Amino acid sequence: MHTNSTYDVKGTRAEINLSFLKKNFDEIRKNIRSNVLIAGVVKANAYGHDLHTMSDELIALGCDYLMVANLREALSIRAHIEKSGVKASVPIMVMGVTTQDDFKRAVKADITLTIFTLEDANLLNDAALSLKKTAKVHVKLDTGFNRLGYKDHHLAVEDIQKMIQMQAIMVEGLFTHLALKDRDSDAIQFNRFDHVIHALEAKGIKIPIKHACDSIGTIAYPERQYDLVRMGALLYGYCSRPTPFELIPIMTLKTNISAIKWIEAGEGVSYDYTYMVNERRLIATLPVGYADGVPRALSNQGYVIINGMRAPIVGLMCMDQCMVDITAIPNCKIGSEVILFGSALLPLGVLASLAKTNRNEILSRISMRVPRVYYRDQEICKIVDYLL
Ligand SMILES: *Cc1c(COP(=O)(O)O)cnc(C)c1O
Repeated sequence: MHTNSTYDVKGTRAEINLSFLKKNFDEIRKNIRSNVLIAGVVKANAYGHDLHTMSDELIALGCDYLMVANLREALSIRAHIEKSGVKASVPIMVMGVTTQDDFKRAVKADITLTIFTLEDANLLNDAALSLKKTAKVHVKLDTGFNRLGYKDHHLAVEDIQKMIQMQAIMVEGLFTHLALKDRDSDAIQFNRFDHVIHALEAKGIKIPIKHACDSIGTIAYPERQYDLVRMGALLYGYCSRPTPFELIPIMTLKTNISAIKWIEAGEGVSYDYTYMVNERRLIATLPVGYADGVPRALSNQGYVIINGMRAPIVGLMCMDQCMVDITAIPNCKIGSEVILFGSALLPLGVLASLAKTNRNEILSRISMRVPRVYYRDQEICKIVDYLL
């Protein structure tokens, strides 16, 4: 999966292939209805792939909207776009709650907000009026996830009628989020969503951008794409359901062996000697630990790939380092390349299940200590290093 070009970037790093991002985006574009907008979900540092880099790339690829979890992420993209002078811009939306104290900051930066109370709509309207601007909002409906949104759908319809009368509010969107438990539970959620859409239409209100589907929803319910789909995982190359097109994971997490030693029968490895050997073993030390985002739960459970073979993680993972058993792997040297995930031999999904978590948790926790090295057409085109 990963590129084989020669380079001298060594040490723990996340290699991210922008050509694969383009392939994934183009496949998604081809496979969703042509009048449906694509929102790129870039929250949580773009699932670890770097917020600014992914925003730039997705804008260049023709993404219609960027969506994040909170206002600070949105403001960070806005500031980056302004600084870099990118002309082709896209709207930016906060999918989570924005507190009333932040309404002015949001309106100033033209950030689309999620709201689900009339009180917030009124205050946002006041903020926008005072700035002589219009605030774009997407109203959120809770159709069963029980996280955010109007639970009372009669009230939602009443409030939306009032919101569209407000001078400085533009109700651009209406959305909900699926629990994806099974098709029956999803159908109940879709029905509740459709019910509100119809109730609004009966009153002559047509909301331009209605949306319900994230990556899995888009794949599972092609007929339910409404006006926009919210794409996170799929862009980065992951889906836990079979997709009608090929996706390529765009990130490979790598490091290089930092030390090698033989240990003798009776010796232990790492804190507490949770791993003891009863015969001579060859142990490699890797300069990567849980502070880089590799789950500590992989201690004595996971493995890495070296020279195309599996090397088990032995002993407790440390904050900055871990040890692997390389006795069975020929030709290991200091500096040998190590893949932590992202090759056909060790996909992220396998690592996630060994660590008893999901792929997104691992991606989003890859820390600022890990430089992101970007490839396009087999060549390094950019390095993001949060420390230097
Ligand atoms: C994170 C998020 C998404 C994107 O989810 P993926 O499964 O990664 O596509 C979509 N919608 C909302 C509301 C989200 O919070």
